[in-house]
Amino acid sequence: MYPANVAYHRASSVAEAVELLAENEDSKLLAGGHSLIPLMRLRLASPASLIDVGRIAEIQGISVCGDCVCVGALTTHSTLASSCDLQSACPIVPEAAALIGDPAVRNRGTIGGNLAHADPASDLPTVAVALGATIKATGPNGKRSICAGDFFQDLMTTALDDGEVMTAVCLPAIQAGQGMAYAKMLHPASRYAVVSAAAVVTVEDGRCAAASVAVGGVETAPAKASSVEAALTGNALDAGVIACASAAVADDLAGDAIDDVFASGEYRRAMAEVYVRRALTSAAERAG
Ligand SMILES: Cc1cc2nc3c(=O)[nH]c(=O)nc-3n(C[C@H](O)[C@H](O)[C@H](O)COP(=O)(O)OP(=O)(O)OC[C@H]3O[C@@H](n4cnc5c(N)ncnc54)[C@H](O)[C@@H]3O)c2cc1C
Repeated sequence: MYPANVAYHRASSVAEAVELLAENEDSKLLAGGHSLIPLMRLRLASPASLIDVGRIAEIQGISVCGDCVCVGALTTHSTLASSCDLQSACPIVPEAAALIGDPAVRNRGTIGGNLAHADPASDLPTVAVALGATIKATGPNGKRSICAGDFFQDLMTTALDDGEVMTAVCLPAIQAGQGMAYAKMLHPASRYAVVSAAAVVTVEDGRCAAASVAVGGVETAPAKASSVEAALTGNALDAGVIACASAAVADDLAGDAIDDVFASGEYRRAMAEVYVRRALTSAAERAG
């Protein structure tokens, strides 16, 4: 199906995009278009105007500064997947980005669009929550930072206001003794996540000093697995500890599980334990 008629504006800067959002009622930002355009074609979204931010140079690219990796919101999945800087500074992001869709999707889709769209089957929201990423936004009232744990509120609902543009995602750089990994059960046709898990562990003196684990695809927003984290902390990360801790994810997925044509809620919960275990096993190996 073709989308409904829509007015098109192209912004050349973040400031202009914010102005255009304010001037045009019922407008939507357009980045790579790989989530918004399909919704418009299905008439599940029919904005009156599109504000194309796809050519704003100031919000593209990756820069590593000390302990922080700053990724512009317009950075594409293929740039994330192939970045040597990111591979060294925050390797879970290229790992997850390389698993997104197919080359066409990765060449057009952006980290900002992926996070703002907040599809529970997307990969980067789960990674952002496990990393404790910070999302930067600019709106009519200026700039603000939102931590990923507060950003994803519900199905396709985020803490961004209608008039705001996401400009960057700040990621903590990997530290000595840390390992990070992403594991997903992918849908064979779209490669969207049916269930996914992201894990970051810090090992000191042979024991887990800190762990951060998030699960995607089961609930309407990424779920932080605090019971899993508690079961890991203070223990040597051997197979037995990881298996016991992974089983605790059942306590973290207490809300309604997504139940659709792809998988039942019960199956997603069962697979959450499996994918948390896989992500933790890889993260622990990488932490050395
Ligand atoms: C066939 C197919 C397979 C896919 N498989 C996967 C997969 O395996 N894993 C996965 O994670 N994703 C997958 N995707 C989704 C893909 O990653 C999208 O590109 C991404 O989710 C949205 O990014 P975009 O740049 O295309 O955003 P757009 O479609 O342009 O926008 C999406 C939403 O974000 C908003 N938005 C965009 N940029 C900004 C910004 N800077 N500030 C504020 N709001 C903004 C838009 O207004 C819109 O509401 C798939 C898509 C397709 C079509």
